[in-house]
Amino acid sequence: MNISILHLYPREMNLYGDHGNVLTLKKRCQWRNINVEIINYEAGQTFPSHPDIIFGGGGQDSGQIKIIDDLQKIAPKLKALIDAGTPTLTICGLYQLCGHFFRTQNDDYLPGIGIFDIETVAGPQRLIGNTVIKSSKFGQIVGYENHSGLTTLKSNAKPFGTVILGAGNNGKDQTEGAIYKNAIGTYLHGPLLPKNPKIADYFIKVALERKYAPQILPKLDDKLTQKAHEYAAKLER
Ligand code: GLN
Repeated sequence: MNISILHLYPREMNLYGDHGNVLTLKKRCQWRNINVEIINYEAGQTFPSHPDIIFGGGGQDSGQIKIIDDLQKIAPKLKALIDAGTPTLTICGLYQLCGHFFRTQNDDYLPGIGIFDIETVAGPQRLIGNTVIKSSKFGQIVGYENHSGLTTLKSNAKPFGTVILGAGNNGKDQTEGAIYKNAIGTYLHGPLLPKNPKIADYFIKVALERKYAPQILPKLDDKLTQKAHEYAAKLER
């Protein structure tokens, strides 16, 4: 079996180890003898026709400004893939831009592509630190957040999880991230997937099932991963 992973804007949108998410997907596929092709997509390049998994990381406001025009250009294709159920993970900067807009600290208005029904406006201080959330789909999730944007979920948005430690979407309503079909948007860097392999395997399973047939993924030895997860869950903010 073969899987292609589209990594959106790895040059501009790749903070706090976000690339580790792609490596985790790749290794967890290879350990199960699934071939992996990684497609790095930068602004202006040809958009790949049928990626099986989509990943986009975080970035500084300046990085977000650099990619915003191109993101608008590829939006119809991205939306069609996500609407059709392509497993997608967007972190922080690209999570914000998958909403309706992000208004930065400098009052730049960055239009998003409206996959999640969310709006983001920069707040007075950065929200930084270790984060633990609880998701109905995946249980406890650990990560690290660093953002100025405060995100509000509108009526059609479903949160990814509930905050146990940290700020999450806005530091107020205990929500973290958003989920739409098989797309997850979240503020959690870390990177997210190495310490939360359940989410990685969910993406791999969905991708294989969309392409081939129902799957039972062979179990991997996750003892060390589990220890890393438990250690991260006990870290102070
Ligand atoms: N620049 C955005 C913010 O500060 C996103 C940051 C990030 O991706 N870590 O909110």
